[in-house]
Amino acid sequence: MVISQNDIRTKFKAQGLKVTPQRAAIYKALAETTSHPTAEALFQQVAQDYPMMSPNTVYYTLSTLKEAGLVKEVNYWHDRSRFDANVTPHHHLICLDCRAIFDLEDHALNELQHKANVPKNFQVLSHQVEFYGYCASCQKAQRHQPSTSSRHSHVQSPRRKS
Ligand SMILES: [Zn+2]
Ligand SMILES: [Zn+2]
Repeated sequence: MVISQNDIRTKFKAQGLKVTPQRAAIYKALAETTSHPTAEALFQQVAQDYPMMSPNTVYYTLSTLKEAGLVKEVNYWHDRSRFDANVTPHHHLICLDCRAIFDLEDHALNELQHKANVPKNFQVLSHQVEFYGYCASCQKAQRHQPSTSSRHSHVQSPRRKS
């Protein structure tokens, strides 16, 4: 989804954030992808238009945007955070092989927190549902035929991508 400079300015202003060209470029790049990129991937993309940009600027900007509630950090593998500019309630489909993360909008899942058996003394602010498995192209590569294989989808032990 293409986001205009005006939209960016409006969003930043609403959060009391100063709009700088670099900040706006980083936010725009993230808002226009659904790939949940790492900071590194985002840096490589933005650096094409902003050769003076440093990786640190990207890290720092992402944490500023995160504090402002404009982006979310998604961390399923503990080694490399991924970032998401979609801060409306949604859920994720996570490929354990290629590490693709797909958004899943599902109204029934959004309602879960009213139905789940959460202790009354726990104050729920939000929730997010994750589905682990293999994406269409990884299945097509036939690396993951449903079989008697002992490999189950434990996110704790995904195969490391080299
Ligand atoms: Zn995959
Ligand atoms: Zn997402």
